[in-house]
Amino acid sequence: MFQRICMAQVTFMTLLSEPPRIGGTLVWYYAICRREVWLMSHGIEPDREDEFLRMGRLIDQNSYGRQRHAIEFGNNKFDIIREEKGTLVVGEVKKSSRSLEAAKLQLAHYLYELLKNGINARGELLFPKEKRRETIDLTDEMETRLDEVYGDIRSIALQSAPPPAKKCTYCRSCAYKDFCWS
Ligand code: SF4
Repeated sequence: MFQRICMAQVTFMTLLSEPPRIGGTLVWYYAICRREVWLMSHGIEPDREDEFLRMGRLIDQNSYGRQRHAIEFGNNKFDIIREEKGTLVVGEVKKSSRSLEAAKLQLAHYLYELLKNGINARGELLFPKEKRRETIDLTDEMETRLDEVYGDIRSIALQSAPPPAKKCTYCRSCAYKDFCWS
C-alpha cells in the first residue's frame, strides 16, 4: 500500500534545511510533474509495489542482462555503462518512449555530471519493448537548460507545501496517484 500521509500533514511540513541532492530521478520527475519533485525531495516515497514501478524494474532487470547495471555515481545511478572506441557510453533503460523529453533530460544530466568530473561521455536511451535506441550527446543548450532546471528544482523543494496536483497524462501511471487523487 501507498504510505499514507494526508495532505494536512504535508502542508504543515517545515522547509527543507538543506538543498535537495539532485540526481537523475529528480531531474526526470521535474520534466514529468513538479509536484513529484516536491514529494520526492521531502522524502515522501511512492509505493515501491506500485504496478508501474514494478513493471519498470522488471523490464530493467530482464533487458541488456550481460551489461553492467545500476552503477552509482554521486546522486545518480546509471543503468548501463560501457566503453566504445575509447568513449564512455551511459545507457538508460526506459519502459517506453512516451516520456522521451524527460528521458533525454535525465540522460543529459548524467552526461553533464560526468563532464563536471572531467569525463566526456555519450548517452544512449534504450527502449527494449520497442526495440529502439536513441543516442544523446550533451550540447551547450542542454547544459544551459540543465542549469535552469537545477535552480527550479531547488526552489520547488524549498517551498513549504507541494505545488497543487494538476491532472496530466502521467497521473494514471504515477506511483503517487492514490496520494494525489484519493
Ligand atoms: S499523480 Fe499526477 S499530479 Fe500527482 S504527482 Fe503524479 S503526475 Fe503529479
